[in-house]
Amino acid sequence: MPISLNEFVATVSGRAQSQNALPPVEAIAYAEASLPISLPNEGVGFENMKRHLLEDLAPAFNGPSLSANYYGFVTGGSTEASLFADWIVSGYDQNVQVHLPTTVAGSLENSALSLLQQLLSFDGFPGRIFTTGATASNILGLALGREFTVARAGRRRSPPLNTSVAQLGGVKACLQAGVRKIQVLTTMPHSSLSKAASVVGLGTSAIVSLPLSAEEPWRFDLEALEHKLRDADGVVSIIAISTGEVNTGRFATSREEMIKIRALADTHNAWIHVDGAFGLQARVLLPGALHDSIIDGVSAIDLADSVAGDAHKLLNVPYDCGFFFSRHLNLQQAVFQNAPTPVGDTSDIPSAHNLGVENSRRLRALPVYASLLAYGRTWHRNLMERQIALARSIAAFILASDSFELLPQDTDLARIYIIVLFRARSASLNAQLVPSLNASKVMYVSGTQWDGAPATRIAVSTWRVDVERDCARVIAELEKVCREHHESTSTL
Ligand SMILES: *Cc1c(COP(=O)(O)O)cnc(C)c1O
Repeated sequence: MPISLNEFVATVSGRAQSQNALPPVEAIAYAEASLPISLPNEGVGFENMKRHLLEDLAPAFNGPSLSANYYGFVTGGSTEASLFADWIVSGYDQNVQVHLPTTVAGSLENSALSLLQQLLSFDGFPGRIFTTGATASNILGLALGREFTVARAGRRRSPPLNTSVAQLGGVKACLQAGVRKIQVLTTMPHSSLSKAASVVGLGTSAIVSLPLSAEEPWRFDLEALEHKLRDADGVVSIIAISTGEVNTGRFATSREEMIKIRALADTHNAWIHVDGAFGLQARVLLPGALHDSIIDGVSAIDLADSVAGDAHKLLNVPYDCGFFFSRHLNLQQAVFQNAPTPVGDTSDIPSAHNLGVENSRRLRALPVYASLLAYGRTWHRNLMERQIALARSIAAFILASDSFELLPQDTDLARIYIIVLFRARSASLNAQLVPSLNASKVMYVSGTQWDGAPATRIAVSTWRVDVERDCARVIAELEKVCREHHESTSTL
């Protein structure tokens, strides 16, 4: 018997009660050994396959969704509502590319986008679409920035020219517009920005990391930005803002700086793209001493021309679900226009077909819709507050500890969002810190580099967060690795 939707959600939730962040190594070895080498001529049948998936393979998966203590990268879990909806998505297998009057799917996706924009307070962004993730959204952002900046350069020619990259191609449009370089001005971008620059034909060398301030290397230096914008003849600019930076979770701009950057962009015909994969969610917060410094970093990012976000991260819906908002619907439709098909638009809701990369598309809007509807604005705000509270309690412990050092060296806990970056003071412990912390499988942290040395990162991204319980668990694990390290070095 296939299990019912309710049973499925209950099974997954039941497993979550006792779930470690990582599976035992034996489970992974067992699962790997169970993978077939060749395609069977006769299938094993649904029942056997089901047993195989649930009993051989599932125990070898890691736990971003089931464990409360999976702190690697910024992954997010899956709420029960979104999990339920995700099953429906597959069951009904809707293809949302054009808005067919014969299904509610298109209007439903539009409604989900509208609810999402209300949650995150984005007005005036009609070019909106669900994507596969923030990488895809960054590609959309740079593609629009490229179209916009080269078109503006063409219009400044005398006589004015229509230099659309979408129509003419990059080489011809740039030649006609007198553009010899499109630069992407940024600070500490996510790695996907260089992929986006490559895909849309700017090249990874287009990315210019502005000089970094030693104390706050994730921040935009407005003087350096202005200097680069004035740079030279034939250079046009896309400004790419990291909200926030992946190692530290810190934001590139304050509200005041964002207002200045908007004015600079207008003066210099630049495009502003914000990469807010996990930072955008901070826009649900209400003003108040605890969160003012976070709000300052995100409250004016809607001055951007385009924004990339991830629902599969802090909105806690299953992979894969990102989103993209732009102020420039017509420009977006020009860049992503599909050649005319027999099934044209039948509604005044713009078709996803002409707003992004894909033609056939999964109804990945439904888990977002379901979560927003099931839990509402307040629950999402409360979740964000709990995530921040846990990150700050862990940071407070690290700050007070003799064994660990909080990074960047900033004692103001009110500036911490959902990421705690730190290292062990002992170099030998630090070199082993990530594998040591992950060894017990109770929690999972990921490693990075900071200031030329290994650093450890705890990113709080799941809805299962319980501030007191999880803080105690993390502290216990941190103390344990210190104890073990002390014992191993003192017996030498
Ligand atoms: C995760 C992340 C990305 C990439 O998003 P995907 O959903 O993995 O494609 C881009 N930018 C930032 C800031 C991120 O955190």
